[in-house]
Amino acid sequence: MDILTFAELQASKVTDAALGLLAKGRELLNEFEGRLHAALLGDAITDAVNTLFEHGADIVHVVEHPKLKLFQSDLYASALYEIVRRVRPELILFAATLVGKDLAPRLAAKLKTGLVSHCIDLRVEYDENGNKRLVEIVPGFGGLFFAKNVILRTPQIVTMTPGVLKRSRREGGRRGELVRLSLEDLGLDSFESRAETLEVVETKAAKADIDVAKVVVVGGYGVGDAERFKLVEELAKVLNGAVGATRPVVDAGLATKEQMVGQSGKMIRPELYVGIGVSGAMQHVVGILDSGVILAINKDENAPIFEVCDVGIVGHAEEIVPKLIEELRRRKTYP
Ligand SMILES: Cc1cc2nc3c(=O)[nH]c(=O)nc-3n(C[C@H](O)[C@H](O)[C@H](O)COP(=O)(O)OP(=O)(O)OC[C@H]3O[C@@H](n4cnc5c(N)ncnc54)[C@H](O)[C@@H]3O)c2cc1C
Repeated sequence: MDILTFAELQASKVTDAALGLLAKGRELLNEFEGRLHAALLGDAITDAVNTLFEHGADIVHVVEHPKLKLFQSDLYASALYEIVRRVRPELILFAATLVGKDLAPRLAAKLKTGLVSHCIDLRVEYDENGNKRLVEIVPGFGGLFFAKNVILRTPQIVTMTPGVLKRSRREGGRRGELVRLSLEDLGLDSFESRAETLEVVETKAAKADIDVAKVVVVGGYGVGDAERFKLVEELAKVLNGAVGATRPVVDAGLATKEQMVGQSGKMIRPELYVGIGVSGAMQHVVGILDSGVILAINKDENAPIFEVCDVGIVGHAEEIVPKLIEELRRRKTYP
């Protein structure tokens, strides 16, 4: 089974999630024989190819062109389609990032094949005839169950939640086969996009990436107004952490979707998670269970978050969080 992964770039660097896809691909190739491919699209690509080899790619397919400098939805999808026609992989993996979530369904439609989105695991199981098959695990039914999915057509396309992807250790000097393709080779030199990305502007939330932060402070609806949400931001700042939010807080416009933690947002695994005014609904909790330490602050002693936390403080956020901030600042000043 050949596997193709999409190697997403951010500021010319391969994202951690894309490296995590390679690790997942290598793991699957312990069960199925085949090669691990990576598709890399961009402009003025420098170190990215070697990074992909060093993290497990056997073959890297590179398409370089100024038109590919920024993510262009329809052009990227068409280029990937042409790569897939050449490689004929049985499985195509994307990280469920904004780019991956846009590309995967476009590619699935072009290939008339099946897609499973937002997988939190991808496993090998045996079917009733004793044959190995891939099973995708997705949180379903509002997060109350985990659904097992099987894609019946090939190539199978899967997007994986970035928070569950772990990159493997870098193997310095590892090299593989490099396939350079031009837009002309792919028959796309005169491709006319129906919409064009002109500029990518990084938001404040994107910078404070909750996917990778060691400390994430999440504000829930219990602190769901602008004044009290500042407490969440202040505590995150003192802890050098990132600010996350529950869905009602995002809906209220106090945080962006990129900051949302949980089933419809991001799966996170910080060393420390702090939930302030978070009730602990299943759809949120499913995204924090891999955290190192879970600290919850809630005024209701029966809040479900207290069933999953390591440390719980019952009380009003307005009283507790300023004291916590003050104490942390004091310790920083006088260690
Ligand atoms: C299909 C589906 C997908 C979903 N996906 C997600 C998801 O990805 N992420 C997500 O977060 N939600 C998701 N939800 C919503 C989820 O079900 C919950 O509604 C949501 O997580 C609740 O958010 P909350 O804890 O901030 O708010 P609430 O449930 O309203 O809880 C607020 C908490 O704050 C406490 N509180 C109030 N005032 C204070 C105070 N002054 N000090 C301290 N504590 C206080 C209260 O006791 C309460 O426990 C999804 C729902 C569905 C149906």
